[in-house]
Amino acid sequence: MLTYLHGDHLGSASLATDASGAKITDSDTRYYPYGVTRPGLAGTGLPTDRRFTGQREEPSLGFYDYGARPYAPALGRFLQADTLVPDPGNPQSLNRYAYVLGNPLRLVDPSGHKYCDSFDANGRCVSENEAFWVRFLGGWGGDYMVAVQSGAEKVGAALADALNGSARERRAWIATGDRPVTAQEAFQLVYGNNRLVFRHIEGDPIAGWAETHLDWAGNGCYRGEICYDESIFIGSGLASFQRWGLHNVVHELGHGIDQRGGRQARADLAAEWTANPDFPHRDPTNQDPSGYAGLYFGWQQTRVATAGEEFADMFLGWTYNRWDASASGATRSGWMSANMPRWIALAVAGD
Ligand SMILES: [Zn+2]
Repeated sequence: MLTYLHGDHLGSASLATDASGAKITDSDTRYYPYGVTRPGLAGTGLPTDRRFTGQREEPSLGFYDYGARPYAPALGRFLQADTLVPDPGNPQSLNRYAYVLGNPLRLVDPSGHKYCDSFDANGRCVSENEAFWVRFLGGWGGDYMVAVQSGAEKVGAALADALNGSARERRAWIATGDRPVTAQEAFQLVYGNNRLVFRHIEGDPIAGWAETHLDWAGNGCYRGEICYDESIFIGSGLASFQRWGLHNVVHELGHGIDQRGGRQARADLAAEWTANPDFPHRDPTNQDPSGYAGLYFGWQQTRVATAGEEFADMFLGWTYNRWDASASGATRSGWMSANMPRWIALAVAGD
């Protein structure tokens, strides 16, 4: 008999129908959060042993076979310790018996080694998609992930250009010899060999787009992550993010290189303002570009006039090599070109 299985949002088998679309008797299946089937909805008629999150159940033994190790839904944990610690920055992942970081309503663990949070249209775990240079935690839609990856590629290309212009330092840092570094290698040198985490914080602990946390934790964001709050995912969020989000990702990666380098870049900018009163400094009360290629909210991602925020917007200008055609633009551009190799070196050494 031909049957069709139907799944819920986690890929758990929840119903079977026959070829005519009629429900197969007693195939209704529902699960408690950690995978125990609900009384009366245990799917006794379900013609498969692939049930909770699509994993294979061993009903006589009371556990699931997750490939790498058995999982006990009644206990909500694995029966063997994981041999890998997937996410050392996250304290939950240090519990080597824990299931999906204690978040079973949203995450699954296809391999028994590693939870997964974001999927493409074919159900593949995109957090593990090697095409992305970064990792995504929380619910990210595919279009958002592509925009983030585009920003990372833009930054990687600019970093590679800077590194490849400085062969002596390059040889000291990585084992590519005289081969130029690729954009991805440059990105990972600066931001760390583990793929940088972009986390969507559901709810609203940040209130206003993004925060970069490469050297501090807080507001629901772990150290080593760049976090986006709910505001980019609601309303006209996607249209806005596709238009400007890539610039925002580059701006945040500017904060990231500063933080990875011990915040030397912002300190140097503040010192420059002190030493050189003619060096352009944003006026937050008018929208004078002061050397930026455009106004808020395109080539300036904030109106804040602190050294940290100005550096992040100057990093955006440096990445795209786009500045206002004025003396201020030339000053900012020249200063960034002269100093970026040193800040890159600090960020690489900060690993
Ligand atoms: Zn900023």
